[in-house]
Amino acid sequence: MNKKITFIVALLTLSTNLLYAQLRQANVQLLGAGKRVSGSAYYFNTDQKDFLVDCGLFYPETKHIKYEKDIVNTSRLNTKLPISPQKISAIIITHAHLDHIGKIPLLVNNGYNGKIYSTDLTKKLALIMFEMMLKSTSLGSETFTKSKNSNKVHTQSSCEWKNRIKRPKKVTFERNELQDSGLQICKVCLDIELQDIARLFKTIKYNRTFDISRDISVEFFDAKHIPGSASILVKLNLISGKKLIYITGDVGSGLDNILKGKPKVPKTVDYVFIESTYGGKSRVLPSDPFNEFFSDLNKSLRNNHVVWVPSFVLDRTQKVLNVIKKGQQEKKLPKKINIKVVSTTAKKVNKVYDQYFEYRPNSVDESLSMSPAKLSPAISGPIVLLTPSYIDQLDFFHPIVEKIVRSNNSDLMLVGYQDPRS
Ligand SMILES: [Zn+2]
Ligand SMILES: [Zn+2]
Repeated sequence: MNKKITFIVALLTLSTNLLYAQLRQANVQLLGAGKRVSGSAYYFNTDQKDFLVDCGLFYPETKHIKYEKDIVNTSRLNTKLPISPQKISAIIITHAHLDHIGKIPLLVNNGYNGKIYSTDLTKKLALIMFEMMLKSTSLGSETFTKSKNSNKVHTQSSCEWKNRIKRPKKVTFERNELQDSGLQICKVCLDIELQDIARLFKTIKYNRTFDISRDISVEFFDAKHIPGSASILVKLNLISGKKLIYITGDVGSGLDNILKGKPKVPKTVDYVFIESTYGGKSRVLPSDPFNEFFSDLNKSLRNNHVVWVPSFVLDRTQKVLNVIKKGQQEKKLPKKINIKVVSTTAKKVNKVYDQYFEYRPNSVDESLSMSPAKLSPAISGPIVLLTPSYIDQLDFFHPIVEKIVRSNNSDLMLVGYQDPRS
């Protein structure tokens, strides 16, 4: 009898220990953005829960090789999983730029089913970016279903349109090859894929601690980099004592017109991972950093030129619009400027910004798409044309680029990083 009781007590103690075992160890490993700018991903490997902070795409940045080769290598790298989706049960994201979140569609496509934690605004912006990616960014080689006569390809077995096909054909492509082959992913399938990502999100407010396991909690600090952006404080309640690990993500300069103020930071931390891309340069700021932009733009518009401004669809496009508005308010730019935003994704981001900020000039023409047939005749100066920045990789848009580059009446304004080899 006594033996039995001892056994039961031992069993109870063991199971209580297993249930409530305190965190013993945690390792952080950089899966990207080490000695390079892009591909941010921090892998937390602990004995309670494994998770990622950010899960970004790589950009071509191997300067000593040819640009074309770099693009091919980079897109190979971007179809490789950063980690097995079954190994992790949470992804915490700092902000919606693709070099921080762009590998999430690949993870979800390969079975990731854990939570994605972000601010509400980051979720909204991230879903716009994912929609853009799912249309045309390679997730590796995939087999699609199509009917003989349609240019639509399907990915989802539950798609009603796919299930109406009488004699379904299988075709194998990478998503980035679809457009040049005259094919398009079906809208219903795209929507299912997007919902599969959206349902994983759990949104978190700034400066609230939330638990992701018994001894691991997280707090978001406003990073003032882009709307919704956060630096992330991971709080580990280790058996050896508490440890605070801070991952800055990209942080704002404090000079932003749209997001006012400096980044918020915690009072104490034990370890910091800093994104230091521009940290090594000390720069003297002119008293009005936009005067040069205003005077160049004025000159071009006075000469009835086409001003082509390639810029990132998320945040840079909106910043350019905001600076034009500022110039108009300060009477440094004409009241009426013909501004066209043509990227579908940029327009969607504009709409989200509209809900939070009065950032753009009164008249911005968003009626045209990037399709050259309609856009080409509409390009005549004076006009400011805002397009996405990685335009060199969009073959279908090259007629427009050619038209602008060949004309003597056009100017190119660079407002952000552009690969010098592109
Ligand atoms: Zn960023
Ligand atoms: Zn479909």
